[in-house]
Amino acid sequence: MQYSVFENDNDLNDLQSRIYKVIPKQTQDIVGTAVFLIGLPIGFLIHIFGIMPTWYPAFGEAWMIRVSLLLVLASNVYMNWYKMLIVGPNGNAAVLPNIVKSGFRYCHSCRKNVPPRTYHCPVCNVCCMRRDHHCSFGGVCVGHFNQRYFFSAVVNLWILCVPLLSYVWDFTWMCIEGGFTLGKTWQIMLPHLALMARVINFTQFLYILFCAFTFTSLLFVTYLLIAQLFCLWNGQTRMEYLMDIQAYHLGFVENMRHALGSRWFLVAVSPFVPSPLPSDGMTFVTRELLEHNNPKHM
Ligand SMILES: [Zn+2]
Ligand SMILES: [Zn+2]
Repeated sequence: MQYSVFENDNDLNDLQSRIYKVIPKQTQDIVGTAVFLIGLPIGFLIHIFGIMPTWYPAFGEAWMIRVSLLLVLASNVYMNWYKMLIVGPNGNAAVLPNIVKSGFRYCHSCRKNVPPRTYHCPVCNVCCMRRDHHCSFGGVCVGHFNQRYFFSAVVNLWILCVPLLSYVWDFTWMCIEGGFTLGKTWQIMLPHLALMARVINFTQFLYILFCAFTFTSLLFVTYLLIAQLFCLWNGQTRMEYLMDIQAYHLGFVENMRHALGSRWFLVAVSPFVPSPLPSDGMTFVTRELLEHNNPKHM
């Protein structure tokens, strides 16, 4: 088979195959997507209708202002997630072109030559341009064309989780008799034990569990955010970090521009901000090339 050009999938068959592609099929993807689409929204509803009204009566002005701001963040998270799935790591390139160019490698699974920074995903079973990692919360690889959506979803989710944790933290301690004291932190660390010892009742136990759920979410999102920023800082993808490839480190601003597009500083504001990427995913500027072209380094 010859793949000489990128194919735009406009017809119905291609649309069907694209929809089929974004439906998660592996167990890890199904679990991740379910947590993201069902678990997180339920948690959010409990927060705004169960926890926040402790301080701000539901549908009152103060509640409406806070919930509206949280909803802007939440809608950004889900719209970025949707765009990440629909755009995919390879953008409009339905099939990677099988051509021979310098820097191209042979992928034994796909049996074709692939551009530099492209790696094969064992879960998606395709090669992904500038592959970062496989995201189980969407069942899709994060790579060249969709990294900005993944990054923006993580940033928005992080900003969303911080106030929610602060509310639920205060709420949980309000519900434990006597409020927060250092001596009682074990009740939050080991709620099962505290329940069995009848120090807390079952309702308090549930509040602590919900607080732990929010805390774990924030901890995980913080890890994702730091991992992304660390790789962006070094001009690496997660794959390149693992393989210690530093050829594409061009300085912080250029790294951000090459990974998230020319409006990298605005991508987290909305998934609809256009942010064109300098590379088509086939060729990339290396540090060596940049230094060679820069007279300062001559
Ligand atoms: Zn491959
Ligand atoms: Zn993948």
